[in-house]
Amino acid sequence: MNLLIMGPPGGGKGTQAEVIVKELGITHISTGDMFREAVKAGTEMGKKAKEYMDKGALVPDEVVVGMVKDRLSQPDCAKGFLLDGFPRTVAQAEALDATLKEMGIKLDAVINIAVPREKIVQRLTGRRVCRQCGATYHILYKKPQVEGKCDKCGGELYQRSDDTEATVNERLDVYEAQTQPLIEYYSKQGLIKNINGDQDISKVSEDILAALK
Ligand SMILES: [Zn+2]
Repeated sequence: MNLLIMGPPGGGKGTQAEVIVKELGITHISTGDMFREAVKAGTEMGKKAKEYMDKGALVPDEVVVGMVKDRLSQPDCAKGFLLDGFPRTVAQAEALDATLKEMGIKLDAVINIAVPREKIVQRLTGRRVCRQCGATYHILYKKPQVEGKCDKCGGELYQRSDDTEATVNERLDVYEAQTQPLIEYYSKQGLIKNINGDQDISKVSEDILAALK
C-alpha cells in the first residue's frame, strides 16, 4: 500500500506514522530523515540539496522530488511506503504525481489527521522541557512530580520558544494555508481519508487502519 500522511504540528502524526508502517509492513519515508541520509550518503541529489542548504536557501522542488524518487526506487519501498512531510504544496504534489506515474506507482490513500486548533494549542503550549537532560513533560498530560522540576535530574523545566501560544498559532496558520489546497487537490482524486485526531492515540490508529480497508 502506498500512502501519504498529513497532519498539523502537534497533531500526533509521527506517532500514527509509526503505528501504520508497523501494522501494514510498509516503509516510512520521513522527508527530514531522507534529506539527512541523502546528504550524508553524498548522492547526486544529496549533494545538490547540500549546496542550497549551505547557502541557507530553500531546496528547489525538483531536487526534493529527485530525492523522493531516489528513495522510492530503493527495494524496501516495493512492499509499499508511507510518505511523511512531503508534498507541502500543490506544485510539489503535481511533481510527485508526475514522478509516480513515470515510475508506475499509484498512491492508494492520503491520510489527513484533523485536530481542532484549540486542542493543538493546548497540547503544544503545555509542553515543558528540562534544561539539563532534555526530558519532556506536559502541564496537563504528563506532569512532573514537583512543579517546574525534572523528575529525572531535578533540572529546571522551561517552555521552548516554539511552544508559546503566539508561535504555535503562527505555525498553525502556515500549516493550514499550505495544506488546505493540498487537501482539495487530493480530494479531487478521491484519495483523502479524513481522520479525527482528537481521540485516544489507539482509537486514532484504529480509525486510520479501518479507513484503509
Ligand atoms: Zn532533567
